[in-house]
Amino acid sequence: MDRRAVLRAVLLGPLAAAACSASPAGEPVAAPPPSAPDVRAPAPAPVSARPPGELVHAGTGRPEVALTFHGAGDEALARRVLTLLHDRGAAGTVLAVGTWLQRYPDAGRMVVDLGHELGNHTWSHPDLAALDEAGVRVEVERCRDLIAAATGGPGAFFRPSQAQHATPVVRRAAAAAGYPTVLSYDVDSRDFTDPGAPAIRRNVADVRAGGVVSLHLGHAGTLDALPAVLDDLAGRGLRPVTASVLFS
Ligand SMILES: [Zn+2]
Repeated sequence: MDRRAVLRAVLLGPLAAAACSASPAGEPVAAPPPSAPDVRAPAPAPVSARPPGELVHAGTGRPEVALTFHGAGDEALARRVLTLLHDRGAAGTVLAVGTWLQRYPDAGRMVVDLGHELGNHTWSHPDLAALDEAGVRVEVERCRDLIAAATGGPGAFFRPSQAQHATPVVRRAAAAAGYPTVLSYDVDSRDFTDPGAPAIRRNVADVRAGGVVSLHLGHAGTLDALPAVLDDLAGRGLRPVTASVLFS
């Protein structure tokens, strides 16, 4: 871990160290982004402690958080999660894996029709750091095209797979594919490790206003934890909104 990565770990806390994955064993975290701003991917809203092009935590001061979901897994379970959020007046952001949209052709519309936001989480959820730029672009664009076919647009954000933060190559590929900002997160629920609902609730309990929480569709423990997570947020006066609203 280099000096900037150490600094980020200090700034964002221990929960920031893990990355989004369906793998229970965890996975490598991508190299940190460069300090120089990427003029091809400007951030449209204030962000704290991050270079332009990647959204980690909103600095609006409003009492809002974004619940963001790795979009994959059993469709019926996903529907239960998204319906629960809808019924509780919460809007989430689903970063869909392309192969999930291919397997469940109704999934993209389901997300939108239940009042949530849809984004791109690569075609096949690979370790993007292991691919060259052309390979990353294929992963971004193939998923983008399926989202566009289902909803008429590319979706609001791109989120890299198997990494909390996007490398410069990934940000460049995302921007070229129509995503000027990449959506990261600052709170990791670690629900993909199936730790049980109480642990998921604890991992999310300290989210601050402006925070972005990483969650996963396709894990029963996430569904089990959500009622208490939503109760905790309501008790603290924090409103779950889409990432677009959070960063607007
Ligand atoms: Zn993921």
